Amino acid sequence: MSNMAFFDLNKYRQNAESFLSELDKEYYMHYAGLQQELNTSDIYIKYESLFDLSNFEAIKEMRKASKNADETKKLSYLIRFCGEGLVENYARELVDRIGEQEANATVKIDGKDISYRYSDVLLANEADKSKRDAIDDKRNAVTKKSLNPSLYQYWETVHRQAEKLGFASYRDMFEFLKQEDFSTLENSMNMLLEKTADIYQVHFGNLLKKELGISLGDARRSDFAYLRRAARYDRYFKKEALVNVFKDTLLEMGIDIEKQPNIILDVEERRNKSPRAFCATVKVPDEIYLVVMPKGGQDDFEAMFHEGGHAEHFANTSAKLDFEYKFLGDNAVTEGYAFTLEHLMQSSAWLSCFLKMAHREAEDFTYFSNLSKLWFCRRYASKLKYELLLHNGSSISGKDQAYRHILSDAVMMQHHPEDYLKDVDEGFYCTNYIRAWIFEAQLKDYMHRKFGYEWFRQKKAGSFLKEIWSYGQKYGPDEVLMQLDYKGLDINYLIDNLAEEIQKHK
Ligand SMILES: [Zn+2]
Repeated sequence: MSNMAFFDLNKYRQNAESFLSELDKEYYMHYAGLQQELNTSDIYIKYESLFDLSNFEAIKEMRKASKNADETKKLSYLIRFCGEGLVENYARELVDRIGEQEANATVKIDGKDISYRYSDVLLANEADKSKRDAIDDKRNAVTKKSLNPSLYQYWETVHRQAEKLGFASYRDMFEFLKQEDFSTLENSMNMLLEKTADIYQVHFGNLLKKELGISLGDARRSDFAYLRRAARYDRYFKKEALVNVFKDTLLEMGIDIEKQPNIILDVEERRNKSPRAFCATVKVPDEIYLVVMPKGGQDDFEAMFHEGGHAEHFANTSAKLDFEYKFLGDNAVTEGYAFTLEHLMQSSAWLSCFLKMAHREAEDFTYFSNLSKLWFCRRYASKLKYELLLHNGSSISGKDQAYRHILSDAVMMQHHPEDYLKDVDEGFYCTNYIRAWIFEAQLKDYMHRKFGYEWFRQKKAGSFLKEIWSYGQKYGPDEVLMQLDYKGLDINYLIDNLAEEIQKHK
């Protein structure tokens, strides 16, 4: 209780907002290619007091004493922010070191030194399976030798930090911070694995055979990178069309991005600009950057619509909301809205309307796209299972074999033990994606019933989205769904939707 006398909640909230704003601006400047260095350390140092153990304890005390539901919720969002910061701040130097090691690592391909990061792009574009495997083997060797020692140290450090904060494990800490029940989610995802196993084996197996000429049993995870690249559809996903297709889609539902001065659409080509689209929320809702460097291809369109979903969500968030509801909260909400736009690419009506795909081709593409989505769902089900094991408080040593078994079993493609520390989402971010997929499946069900399958051509649907976006992240996915007359998140919508979409293909 003694801390409370010194703790100024309003000042803390103001500092937290400035911190997040400066951090996002720094990310924007660097990844948009406007500034060479990425200097987050100075920002962390400037706001170091935010991540003080005494603040964490003080906010926890305040929540305990709170009698008001709204106040309790805002304090919960602050506890998550402070707790995540406590862990990240503690391991910041290691994170920087790992980033540097990754940026400097090289692999030898065809006698040439290729950067480790770029070798990923080569892999996704390599049509020859044996060459793909060779690149993959070389990448794994670099991961093991150059990255894993630091990654091991990183995970050990954050695990120890969780224990120092009084939690039995990193898992327990994040279950507390996120106020989620990981076991229940794991059970739901086990059900997804079980119910989709046959469909996946048959349909995904056939697709792999047809497109790549290999069987599921002989496939590696890296083969999916090439499958997903899907170069044969490139003629529909032209670089020049990307931004306009996005703008036109929004316009059709009554949203004119040209008239949203708070979304800064950065499409200029710059040498060091991130090749993947991203969204930076510097001020919510007044300064949102949507950064794109069009390169074409279905994955490029997917990324643009996903990030555009984030941008629209935060740009439409009501300015009147409190800081906690604009900047913090449950990221499954914003990920759900990002998937809502991204998954337009799984609608054959949208594909024929905006990309002029012929009927047959659109059907083929949605089949491919839904199978990719099922691949991701099965992957994340197994990631969650593995990450719960990795972070359960016991030693990290030897968990590389568990990684290989758990991931390979669910995805039915070979995974390599070398990735056991790298293929891990910080702070169980995987649960945000999983819950967002479920949330989006239900939201889609609602919109189909209310506005029809071509909801994206209805101004009413646009108004509906703008309304739910306006709440920022005040409400979690369960609460949004309850307002739409659902009982809360229900995985059956996701399972049934995937099964139906995949099985209707002939
Ligand atoms: Zn996202």
